[in-house]
Amino acid sequence: MAPVAAPSPNVLTGKSASRPLTDRYGRAITDLRISVTDRCNYKCVYCRTGNEGAVYADLPIDDYVRMARVFVELGIEKIRLTGGEPLLRRGLLELVRELSRMRTLAGEPLDLALTTNGHLLEEMAEPLRAAGLSRITVSMDAVDAEKFARITRVPGSYGRVLAGVRAAKRAGLAPVKVNCVLLRGFNEDQIVPFAQFSREEGVIVRFIEFMPLEEDRRWTPESVVGLKEIVAALSGFRPLRTMAPNAASETAVRYTFDDGVGEIGIIAPVTQAFCGACSRVRLTSDGKIRTCLFSQMEHDLYGVMRHGGSDEEMAAFIRRTVDQKEARHHIGEPGFLKPSRSMVHIGG
Ligand code: SAM
Repeated sequence: MAPVAAPSPNVLTGKSASRPLTDRYGRAITDLRISVTDRCNYKCVYCRTGNEGAVYADLPIDDYVRMARVFVELGIEKIRLTGGEPLLRRGLLELVRELSRMRTLAGEPLDLALTTNGHLLEEMAEPLRAAGLSRITVSMDAVDAEKFARITRVPGSYGRVLAGVRAAKRAGLAPVKVNCVLLRGFNEDQIVPFAQFSREEGVIVRFIEFMPLEEDRRWTPESVVGLKEIVAALSGFRPLRTMAPNAASETAVRYTFDDGVGEIGIIAPVTQAFCGACSRVRLTSDGKIRTCLFSQMEHDLYGVMRHGGSDEEMAAFIRRTVDQKEARHHIGEPGFLKPSRSMVHIGG
């Protein structure tokens, strides 16, 4: 467990400033990821080992709603719900409904997204849309049932996830994005099949470089399938065309093919870090703020709330925490320290 900054009883009022939430490097923080549970029904080889000995500290839905509201009043415009596996979380639809009623400082609805492994998505896609979810990302690391099972360590799940992707499209949770973490020795041969999948299914496929955030501690620089290798494989399939970023803080480098059919994004936090444009903070399922995936320190927002903190005190705590956001991560550098919590606990 990462060290936690204790809530201070003498926090300054957060009301003083209507300035947007900005860190000391001038990065505007507009994107919040909330992990709504540590639980997961998969055991992906690059993420987690299992549930053995797990202690869950998920909070009541109302508590996430209150913390989210304070963040939104400070300038958050986009919230992504994640986990663990968010579709396992009881009360998820209620949370989505509450979040969909919130408005940004500009008076707009939030950009409300969710990341899921898709196992329960076929039945949940329509209710999520009806509750107010805007978009969805499905994690899918192979388009081959056998490889998929080898990575997720859950037999027979590929068909369910494929049905979930299609149900999300039907429900209008567009654009449906499919995230694939590439791990050498497991699925680097899936790059071209995923390109075909994007073209045939009309979804955006995004390849993610493997980061040292797993419980099994199997990361090495050699295990990372990097951006250049992915581009080379895609170019061997069909000529690639680059696409303009959607926003300055876009994490993916975007491509389509010569005929404009299909869209591929490559998220390269290891070989082409994008920390300079990072607009994100994370809230763990036990209510701690993490200012970077690789933070060594967590900040106990829930502690402020549990001790009777007002919204203003919570806002001031958030501002002070955001101000301490790290300049960048140090993956692959000498002295790099893995965070003490893995991705499944932090919320990807
Ligand atoms: N259970 C949901 C899912 O599967 O999408 C949400 C949580 S999962 C931790 C969020 C994302 O993090 C997934 O796309 C997953 O592939 C990615 N992820 C997990 N561990 C990772 C790692 N070590 N490096 C890169 N991405 C990782």
